[in-house]
Amino acid sequence: MRVAFIGLGHMGAPMSRNILAAGHDLVVHDLRRDAAAGLVADGAAWADSPGEAGAGREAVITMLPGPPAVEQALLGSGGLLAGMPAGSVWIDMSTSIPAVADRIRASATPRGIGVVDAPVAGMAAGARDGTLQIFAGGDAATFAAVRPLLAAMGDPERILHVGPHGAGYTVKLMINLLWFAHLTATAEVLTIGTLAGVDLGTLRRCLLASPAASHFLDHDVLSVLERGDYDEGFALALACKDLGLAADLARASGVPVPVSAAVEQVYRQARARYGDTGGEMLPVKLLEELTGTSLRLPAETRLPAENPLPDAPGALGPSVPTDEAQVLAAAPLAAA
Ligand code: NAD
Repeated sequence: MRVAFIGLGHMGAPMSRNILAAGHDLVVHDLRRDAAAGLVADGAAWADSPGEAGAGREAVITMLPGPPAVEQALLGSGGLLAGMPAGSVWIDMSTSIPAVADRIRASATPRGIGVVDAPVAGMAAGARDGTLQIFAGGDAATFAAVRPLLAAMGDPERILHVGPHGAGYTVKLMINLLWFAHLTATAEVLTIGTLAGVDLGTLRRCLLASPAASHFLDHDVLSVLERGDYDEGFALALACKDLGLAADLARASGVPVPVSAAVEQVYRQARARYGDTGGEMLPVKLLEELTGTSLRLPAETRLPAENPLPDAPGALGPSVPTDEAQVLAAAPLAAA
């Protein structure tokens, strides 16, 4: 397929590399030309503007920070839409909002240009490994036409058509809202419990073997607990953007969201403390610093990440139902 890819950051660079590796003809563009250096060396062509990138392409993918950048790249001067031919498809994989895509679709549809929103989960590692989860919104025929292209970037089992235009954005924002809430609540629980005198590893194992277990506690939190890694692959500025967009959706639908609002405030505090480019898990560090606690598992209690926990939940005996044990051992789904 003749493909253009706009936005070569933490996610877009490895995603476009996988498109190239799958044998597609690729043109790339970013505000930062140096972001394309490796891709161009490997055979991608460079375009000086989004409009130039989209000219003559069958599919154009955007992976941009958020709604303003998407609108600028599509409708701004030298924008994508002007160059795209009839019969082509614009696939927006950014975490954005239906309202912006609606405005773009109003110009695209009369010109015979298809539109799919297809945001992703799975972090920079999933982008690199081509195992992203992809949540597509749009009509079924357009989705079917671009599915093989999406399969170059995502796990074929987890490329889902989730509804009409905009549904992909909504699913993605709800995933991130819940994940950030898991992170914030887990940080509080682990800090309270350890300050009250329970060993961190024991507390985590007991939580995992209880109805309070979560994928976040089982898998994602380990990057902090084992390595002090707060995930710089996803910036606090983008996390705050996602929480703001989720709050906007809540407002538009009239849903009161006091918990989500508190999570957003925690993230804004972390952003003020650690800056725009700090990692998405820094709200854990914020609480560690406020309370003088270090949430770290001693090296001897750690397990290879790919192995299930041998002593949880089975070690806690028959009070752990078998189906819960199966859930705990199941392959993790990536989050942000
Ligand atoms: P990033 O900031 O690393 O990359 C964004 C890229 O877009 C940068 O290279 C920037 O120069 C470029 N850009 C910005 N405005 C542009 C414009 N108008 N025209 C051309 N290029 C422009 O961001 P990222 O982490 O790669 O995230 C991209 C999107 O994916 C965001 O919407 C984010 O919320 C979402 N996302 C990120 C992750 C993650 O783990 N990083 C996971 C899932 C989804």
